[in-house]
Amino acid sequence: MAAVSIDGIRKSFGSIPVLRGVSLSIADGEFLTLLGPSGCGKSTLLRILAGLEMQDAGSISIGERVVDGLRPKQRDVAMVFQSYALYPHMTVASNMALPLRMRRLSAVQRLPILGRLLPGAAGAAAKIDMEVARTAESLGIGHLLARKPGQLSGGQRQRVAVGRAMVRHPAVFLMDEPLSNLDAKLRVQMRAEIKELHQRLGGTFVYVTHDQAEAMTLSDRVAVMLDGELLQVAPPRVIYGDPEERRIAEFIGSPT
Ligand code: ADP
Ligand code: MG
Repeated sequence: MAAVSIDGIRKSFGSIPVLRGVSLSIADGEFLTLLGPSGCGKSTLLRILAGLEMQDAGSISIGERVVDGLRPKQRDVAMVFQSYALYPHMTVASNMALPLRMRRLSAVQRLPILGRLLPGAAGAAAKIDMEVARTAESLGIGHLLARKPGQLSGGQRQRVAVGRAMVRHPAVFLMDEPLSNLDAKLRVQMRAEIKELHQRLGGTFVYVTHDQAEAMTLSDRVAVMLDGELLQVAPPRVIYGDPEERRIAEFIGSPT
């Protein structure tokens, strides 16, 4: 069964079409990379998957559920943004705990009376702290929990952003150019860590990049995107060895 089904997604901003009918099925546990030049619509597609943006036409399923119209929190996904999107005034621990605290809060709000009577509010908070500490430890940032994002290096901030996605144990990880703000050396190192993370967590990853080397080393399959369309979806060696279209060959710089 597909972890993610994308069916005929269209999206325009004003009169400008940005996604022109994108369809794609992503297998459970797959590492799928959307690869394409800046402006081709990668982030828009990822934001639609996350529920941060609504498509004009087409449908998305995650697991067995059609998620069209569901809010981000109601989808079994977590997103890592290019800018990390950490709260500067909060500690690493609080940033990472936020999705879990919000989830608990909304459960309590749905059941106001029951929520107050629920045993172990303190126990739940301690559980969240433990989960955050364990995740931070696994990412090598266990010693940074009391710091603020401004006191961290780029690579450390990136790990916090990944950690914040991990604590929710989502079925699907959405990552929008998570390494693009790092210097070249760190980017290569973090690439290996992301690969290791995928193997360790076993979840489905939808990864966005304009960096071919990243796409080729990380992915089970690469979806080449140009101008709001998917041109070819295939394992890296097929994209390189047997590009279906001249436009793909030109983009990846290999001979036709
Ligand atoms: P990519 O991530 O591949 O660089 P995006 O999905 O961010 O591409 O953007 C695709 C196109 O849609 C670009 O031309 C961009 O300017 C435009 N775009 C993206 N978001 C908006 C928006 N909220 N309003 C208007 N235009 C947008
Ligand atoms: Mg983008």
